[in-house]
Amino acid sequence: MKVVLHICCGVCAAGAGQALLAEGHEVTGYYYNPNIYPPDEYYRRFDAAAKAAEHLGIRLFEGPYNADDWDRAASCLANEPERGRRCHVCYRFRLQQTYLFTLENQLDCFTSTLTISPHKPAAVINRIGQEVGGDRFLPRDFKKKEGFKKAGELARSWGLYRQNYCGCKYSMQGAHR
Ligand code: SF4
Repeated sequence: MKVVLHICCGVCAAGAGQALLAEGHEVTGYYYNPNIYPPDEYYRRFDAAAKAAEHLGIRLFEGPYNADDWDRAASCLANEPERGRRCHVCYRFRLQQTYLFTLENQLDCFTSTLTISPHKPAAVINRIGQEVGGDRFLPRDFKKKEGFKKAGELARSWGLYRQNYCGCKYSMQGAHR
């Protein structure tokens, strides 16, 4: 199938991209992350995603960096803990735009690198993806079968930048992805 892979960063793109290619899909990468703060970090992750896409041999498109829109949706939940309601809003925000990109480009379905992180609940992301895109969402849990470990190994061998916080300004005190 022609699958759009929402990409959050280079490391996750490496692992999830390789898993989808191994399933035999034609993969198109879509970097859409208005949650990422500050802008320097956004572009650092984009460069890593582009490098991963090159290694994978897939196309990569960049969505709008509409950080103000994202913040309007998420800031009322600023004090939520990571994995709480703010994160659910954040997942939905990015999956909705990825769904629109899938339709606009007449591709078959979409999924996200987000489930590869051991800090992100695949069940929640898959539920939101299906609410957003119905049958066009491809539910996956890329962390399974040592997916996260394999992503780290690929990232090291490809020399990809690896961040130490999830992405938004509210997560900057955290020490994980
Ligand atoms: S912690 Fe991560 S998933 Fe949660 S709102 Fe911030 S960027 Fe989004």
